[in-house]
Amino acid sequence: MMQHERLLKVLVIGDLGVGKTSIIKRYVHQVFSQHYRATIGVDFALKVLNWDHRTVERYGNMTRVYYREAVGALVVFDMTRLSTFQAVLKWKGDLDSKVALSNGRAVPAVLLANKCDQRRHGLCPKLPKLENFSREYGFVGWFETSAKDNTNIDAAITCLVKNIMYVE
Ligand code: GDP
Ligand code: MG
Repeated sequence: MMQHERLLKVLVIGDLGVGKTSIIKRYVHQVFSQHYRATIGVDFALKVLNWDHRTVERYGNMTRVYYREAVGALVVFDMTRLSTFQAVLKWKGDLDSKVALSNGRAVPAVLLANKCDQRRHGLCPKLPKLENFSREYGFVGWFETSAKDNTNIDAAITCLVKNIMYVE
């Protein structure tokens, strides 16, 4: 059987320290550490899929800002820090201004409220309902995630990949 192999470029964007590197390491290597070096701006993930439900992954950790030819994005904030949530729309706007699908539509983006294991220090009362917020601002979905506890990382990325495969 012929296998149709695709290369998907997925961006992981959000403010400093929200957990971008941790999410990527958790997803790809199933590890978590308190001690990644800070990355400013954008992390970059590459994933190769065989769309017969078997998945092969490849990962490149690049700190350069590379929006070109991305087909999807995770926009991450830290649910214990309001400023990182306030920056979400800046990141989404940045994304939409720098990259679009070949058909001109916005690339699918999933909103991640990371560090949900810290919920007791969280902003829940101050946050708008993420369901409404994410729909209003054009995200294809949202998840409360923890790279530390491995909560919803796979679910968020599966949601993104499904949207990437369906919109193209
Ligand atoms: P980046 O700058 O967005 O890449 O953020 P990092 O991945 O470097 O994470 C910044 C800090 O937050 C590190 O100390 C991580 O260990 C911590 N961190 C990341 N994700 C989580 C999480 O889900 N829960 C908790 N408690 N800490 C996290
Ligand atoms: Mg980083």
